[in-house]
Amino acid sequence: MFYSCSPAHAASGTLRARARTGTRSAIVDIHCHVMTPEAAALTKDLDDPGRAATATFAHPLTREVSRKQDETVRVPLTSIEARLKSMDKDGIDIQAISPAPVYYYWTEPELGRECARLINDNIARIVATHPDRFVGLGTLPLQAPALAVAELERCVKELGLRGVEIGTNIGGVELADERFRPFWAKAQELDVMIFMHPAGFTQPQRLADHYFTNIIGNPLDTTVAVSHLIFGGVLDAYPKLKICLAHGGGYAAAYSGRFDHAHGARSDCRRLIKKKPTSYLKKFYFDTIVFTHHQLEYLASVYGTDHILLGTDYPYDMALPNPVGFVNGAKLTRADKTAILGGNAAKLLKIKMPPGNARAKKPATRSRKK
Ligand SMILES: [Zn+2]
Repeated sequence: MFYSCSPAHAASGTLRARARTGTRSAIVDIHCHVMTPEAAALTKDLDDPGRAATATFAHPLTREVSRKQDETVRVPLTSIEARLKSMDKDGIDIQAISPAPVYYYWTEPELGRECARLINDNIARIVATHPDRFVGLGTLPLQAPALAVAELERCVKELGLRGVEIGTNIGGVELADERFRPFWAKAQELDVMIFMHPAGFTQPQRLADHYFTNIIGNPLDTTVAVSHLIFGGVLDAYPKLKICLAHGGGYAAAYSGRFDHAHGARSDCRRLIKKKPTSYLKKFYFDTIVFTHHQLEYLASVYGTDHILLGTDYPYDMALPNPVGFVNGAKLTRADKTAILGGNAAKLLKIKMPPGNARAKKPATRSRKK
């Protein structure tokens, strides 16, 4: 079985799926990061509020552990050779590479655009080196929505990227804010995947100990963002958006009954949406970074195996170990595992498969609790 990563405008390349993974289909990791040092260098002397918060709201031991991690991940974040070696070790055929979640939303618009262009050009360059192993997800200067829309078009139409990574708020502004509607409209029109990835919680004052800024703060910010997108009517206005949530969707995916109860019980919870909140929640996609089989099986049963995608969080210490083995160990059918490991990502990211590939064309099994 062969998969091709290449759209019509990119170099062609085919890939023989790795037999050792236990499946004949290609394995696609949709959550793996790349660093672009040129963008970091451009802003290193400026006052980054995110960097300041990370330094302030952290136990001294957290600062030390994170400092060491920053050193160890620099090579895997920047070296293509190290990345390929790690992919081969883990049985990953294709990475959908996205920027390290360091957003430049705090910069002036022109500088934000310059950072985004540097990062997106770097991602496109990496993809071009091995078009059979990588597809790209870009970044946008969302602090200036008009510039973001233009950069999104450039990413997709000129660079051949398959979507973009965005934060869970834009400098503290919720994604349901009216100013972002042109971005959502363009993302829907271009039919590209939006990979929503948090960068800590906006109010970290109570999260300084035990690395809570990440282990609680990241899923919490995703939860707040998802709630705004649902209750704020974004999914109502743009029903064809394809938004994939990092870290299994945070806490939103686990406690959605409270959304629907409030929607029925209180008029202030249904001002902007027509249907039950969970009907919108089921439109999202979720990665597999949940660490326990019961949570993965829960996501699959509630949201459908066609809405779950393999993700690792390469190359950080919060990454999912043995990602392919983790999915294969879940109580799911072989067809479901095949879809989660790569079939769903191939569809969302438009990784082309040759004609006559009946198994790959077959829709993923949907086993969703009503
Ligand atoms: Zn990540």
